Amino acid sequence: MIVEQIWTGNAYRNFNYLIVCPDSGEALAIDPLDHEKCLSRAKDKGWDITQILNTHEHGDHTGGNRVMIAATGAKLLAHANARDKIPGIDRGLGAGDVIQVGKTVELEALDTPGHTMSHVCLLSHTDQPALFCGDTLFNAGAGNCHSGGHPVELYQTFAGQLAELPDDTQIYPGHDYIVNNLRFTLDREPDNARAAELLAEIEGQDPDAALVTSLALEKEVNTFFRLHNPSVIAQLRETFPDLPAKPEARAVFLKLRELRNSW
Ligand SMILES: [Zn+2]
Ligand SMILES: [Zn+2]
Repeated sequence: MIVEQIWTGNAYRNFNYLIVCPDSGEALAIDPLDHEKCLSRAKDKGWDITQILNTHEHGDHTGGNRVMIAATGAKLLAHANARDKIPGIDRGLGAGDVIQVGKTVELEALDTPGHTMSHVCLLSHTDQPALFCGDTLFNAGAGNCHSGGHPVELYQTFAGQLAELPDDTQIYPGHDYIVNNLRFTLDREPDNARAAELLAEIEGQDPDAALVTSLALEKEVNTFFRLHNPSVIAQLRETFPDLPAKPEARAVFLKLRELRNSW
């Protein structure tokens, strides 16, 4: 499997992706907002885009569909429940559905509500797994819930699905927000040395060659995976004195998500 991460350079800081079968050159484009960059990258490399996948219905993920389909004839895939929100879906996806790309690549659809209620992530069936997580999980952060999502469902997706994936899973999010997110982690957990070190390392990184994190690293630096951490809890109790000394993970997640909205 070849993964081509395409930095759009736009104000929303979107990442687009091409996932390619190295044997056949067939490719699936994930959220190809910057259709010009996606099409020219595929042309340069000799790849044939046969499928487009939208992780969810927001315009900064679907905005390239029309031009991409006109140029390639690719089939459009998205969450089955997104049919009334994304025009022209050819294949509606549910949890466990497998998407074949060329001869060698298999991607499994995960039903991951929270950022919106019709959001899919893709998990590759490869020796080292890769997760394409749209706006659900960001490097060192979590998606917001104010355009059609729900924080409780986002928590359930994090705790019940994402946290259970293998530690060596590579994380490919829909946006480059890592610097701000690490600052939020450090605001919540000032003694997180790994987050401080990583921030120093990647601040000012070239988004065309962005760091790819693993789930293991996310568990060290992403505050939304650190719900039992004593510093995170102590810091939260200063803002929310009603939070018990040994709070449920879910309560910690919801308070963090709420704080991040206005941070
Ligand atoms: Zn979104
Ligand atoms: Zn987005």
